[in-house]
Amino acid sequence: MKLFLTQIIFAFLFISTVQGQKISYKYPQNRSFSVDEVTEAYRSLQKNYPKQCSLQEIGISDIGRPIHLFIISDDGNFNPDAARKKGKLVLFVNNGIHAGEPPGVDASVKFSEDLLSQSKYKKLLNDVVICIIPFYNVDGGLNRSCCSRANQNGPEEYGFRGNGQNRDLNRDFIKTDTRNTQAFVAAYQQWLPDIFIDTHDTNGSDFQYVMTLITSQLDKQNRYLADYQRKAFLPKLYEDMKKRDFEMIPYVNFRGNSPESGIVDFLETPRYSTGYSTLFGALGFVTETLKYKPFPKRVEATLAFLLSSLELMSTEKNALKTARKKALDDISTKQIFEIAWQLDTANVDSIEFKGYETEYRESQFGLDAKQLVYNQDKPYTKSIPYYKRYIPSVTVQKPSAYIIPQSWHEVVDRLLINNVKLSRLEKDTMISVEMYYIENYETVKTPYEGHYLHYNVALRKAYMPIKFHKGDYVAETNQIANRYLVETLEPHGTDSFFAWNFFDGILQQKEWFSAFSFEPLALDLLKNNAFVREVFERKKQEDAEFAKDHWGQLYFIYKMSPYYENTHNRYPVGRVP
Ligand SMILES: [Zn+2]
Repeated sequence: MKLFLTQIIFAFLFISTVQGQKISYKYPQNRSFSVDEVTEAYRSLQKNYPKQCSLQEIGISDIGRPIHLFIISDDGNFNPDAARKKGKLVLFVNNGIHAGEPPGVDASVKFSEDLLSQSKYKKLLNDVVICIIPFYNVDGGLNRSCCSRANQNGPEEYGFRGNGQNRDLNRDFIKTDTRNTQAFVAAYQQWLPDIFIDTHDTNGSDFQYVMTLITSQLDKQNRYLADYQRKAFLPKLYEDMKKRDFEMIPYVNFRGNSPESGIVDFLETPRYSTGYSTLFGALGFVTETLKYKPFPKRVEATLAFLLSSLELMSTEKNALKTARKKALDDISTKQIFEIAWQLDTANVDSIEFKGYETEYRESQFGLDAKQLVYNQDKPYTKSIPYYKRYIPSVTVQKPSAYIIPQSWHEVVDRLLINNVKLSRLEKDTMISVEMYYIENYETVKTPYEGHYLHYNVALRKAYMPIKFHKGDYVAETNQIANRYLVETLEPHGTDSFFAWNFFDGILQQKEWFSAFSFEPLALDLLKNNAFVREVFERKKQEDAEFAKDHWGQLYFIYKMSPYYENTHNRYPVGRVP
């Protein structure tokens, strides 16, 4: 029955495609494509335009269903190297990462169809190759229902946010727990797009705009790309969207109770899609259409954004190429990297905002409570504060290379799929390196995306010879993946592999001592080692509790003895200065 319905829908939508005439795709009103339907839609396009587009499988999702990439390339060459050689730019669009937020899924079909069928877009396709993931969170897309997003104004059915492992794929880019992310990263690394767009819906407050936009945070963005975006790309993009009747506002991430208290630029660390794309020097955008607006409007707005971005890419082709080249050269050669950021609250701008008046009404719950509501009958345009500047809170001088012991193979696997250039030691080798000791850290109390994240990591650096083994990996920091390397391998980075628990093994001491048998050794050490004696006596004087604590004193001496394992809390990745 389901198949039969699908056939009817597609017979309607693509009837003229089959006959080779002008395509008569209609907006699906309050309906969104299912995973199977959207795949079928792209198959139809491939069938009708075999020389200009190709539907490829890039991997499987956690529940074993294929994830697709639809490529539009007017010369029939679907190879990224060939496209780069021809000087073409790459636009990469990701849809359905949150399967309950589907405007991009539907808009991208219409976008592809228009580009392929209408001659006015021919010029754009000369300049740009377009890669579209039709439905990324396939698993969530199969878990379809009417209602998992409360108050969303259509479509009548949509998918669920979590994937097969109930992971939020838009937190998985760095840790790559899911097969979905493995597939994405492999495809992304092949194409290394100039512009990356991830399509979403948003909720929160209510306001007049259909489309809000997260631009990869500009202070965190590569300086050449940020400069280019501020001066040229973004003003033109906002202006063009206004002309298309979809005036945009930056993503409404507000301080306080309502947008009037001010919008704060969203800081996306590399766990997020555009945080990830920023590591590799792309202009990153997350479209966030407001879920209280009707679904067809949200589809239309997303379509307008895709067209606007593509047209701008084409007109800005040379400037964009120049900025991108500078950015990639910069990533490969710069010495200091910023790995954590904080909002600069002293630096506040203002922005014109079209909202609705807020008022407090009595709660209908019979409680003595007031409820904040947005009054759609009272639209306003006001200037509100806009906090859009961030300052780096942690910076790191890159080493000339990282040495990653092969035992940490989960980390090595992630470096490999991210196209990090690695060599391997040919034999066991002693190398003088900087090593970090984890002096302190905190850990969240409840699991977050399948992990217990560490934060507030304090480090001590020590320079020492370390024996690395034949086959251990060396990552030189003279490559496009530099920023990825620094942000994942420096343990105090917000989204480092250490933060995401990949190195938790080092945090546990493996060998201990018995007090009765160690006490004579401890006394010997105090007697024969002046340094140990001095440090121990000072500690006793400074710490009254310690002065009475027999076991504590033994452990203190044990940690300064040769019996204590020197790998405890020692972060295993070496930094070659
Ligand atoms: Zn979302």
